[in-house]
Formats: sequence, structure tokens, C-alpha cells
Amino acid sequence: TPAQLAWMEGKVGRYPFENYGLLIAQARTGFELETQTLSLFEKDIFTEPAYPAWYIDSIMVHEMAHQWFGDSVSPRTWSDLWLNEGHASWYEALYAQEKGHQSMAKRMREAYRASDGWRAAGGPPAAPKGPRPGQKISLFRPVVYDGSSLVLYALRQEIGTPAFERLERDWVRTHRDGTASTADFISLASQTSGRDLQGFFRAWLYGKKTPPMPGHPDWKSAPVEKAKPVKG
Ligand SMILES: [Zn+2]
Repeated sequence: TPAQLAWMEGKVGRYPFENYGLLIAQARTGFELETQTLSLFEKDIFTEPAYPAWYIDSIMVHEMAHQWFGDSVSPRTWSDLWLNEGHASWYEALYAQEKGHQSMAKRMREAYRASDGWRAAGGPPAAPKGPRPGQKISLFRPVVYDGSSLVLYALRQEIGTPAFERLERDWVRTHRDGTASTADFISLASQTSGRDLQGFFRAWLYGKKTPPMPGHPDWKSAPVEKAKPVKG
């Protein structure tokens, strides 16, 4: 955990709270949860032999990343949830690539393939579909996880890695201990990159179809639902 904290601080800047810990519960919750300063994990995550070490580590980093993205900077409305889960999934994937040799491009290509199906099922990343009358549905659906880290990947492709990394640091510093909206993110991304990104984000965050991936014109999306493990 200290090494993961150092890694996260190297990516986005100082940890926003005074303490951090993990609570490993002997319980089946069906999720892990980014409780502020004390992330909650099911014991099985750590004891199930089928999970490789890189996977467990990347889930730990997912919940840790939420301390910045979600807990320190909180979403203004539930439609801004993609900012929480997209970023947590982003650092999960980045950690898996840097420490576990799991290709992020491969993961993103797979997410791209599934993305149109996720959008059809759950709505676009920043405009989640409501339930049908009388039904209850979960907002925590694939389009806000890898479907939204895919948006961040597209953004990094579009504005380049240095501007993207600056934006990430600026975002958590500017909105620390506050709430922030999708419009705030678009505005800061435009400011940091020196470009008007309204059109880019309109297509990526509100489009029914996944826009072409900058730098990967050959990537294709198929309207098929893909199962993913549940993360908080
Ligand atoms: Zn999460």
C-alpha cells in the first residue's frame, strides 16, 4: 500500500487526506468500496487463488485512486459519476500496465469493441439512462468504468501525454475538498491543453455511438454486452 500511494502521488500529486488504510472484511458484498481514508475490500479478493497478483494490486489502486477522484473531488450530480469510475479505472489500468505488464492499449481496444454495446445498454458516459417505470437499476455499469476510462484514453490520444498529465494534477488540486461537474472537467481540459474541447467531449460523453479513436482509425465497436467484475 505505501508503494502504491507513492506511485499515485507520482502521477497526480499529494494524497488529499491525513490517513489511508484498508479494511478487509470477512463478508460477501459483491463490491469493493472507496470509503474515504479506509477502502473496504472483501477478504476473497486476497485469498482467491484464481486472481493473479497484478489484478489484486490493480483493484487496490482503483480504490486508492478514488481517494482523489470521488472522495476528495466529489461528483456534483450522479451524471458526473463517470469522473469517479473513469479515473479509478484509468489508474487501475495504468498500474496494471506499468507494474503487471498488462497492455493498456489492448485493454482499451477491447473496451472500444464493447463500447457501443455499453452505451446502448446504459446510455452515454455522462448521460446515464434512467430506469424503466417501476424498475430499479444500478448506475454502476460498464459504461462508467472501462467505457469512461476509454474516454480518458481518447483524450490523452487527442491532447498528448504531457497535457493530459498536467490536466490530471490540475483537476485534483483545483477541486480538492469540493464537488466538480463534467462541465468543470471540459473547461479545465480546454484550458490546460489550450484547445476548445467542447466538440470532442460532446461526442465522447454524450454520443450514442463511440466516436473514432484518435490515432487508431482501425478500432471497431460491436454492439455486444461484455461482463465485467464489479468494483466500487
Ligand atoms: Zn470505482
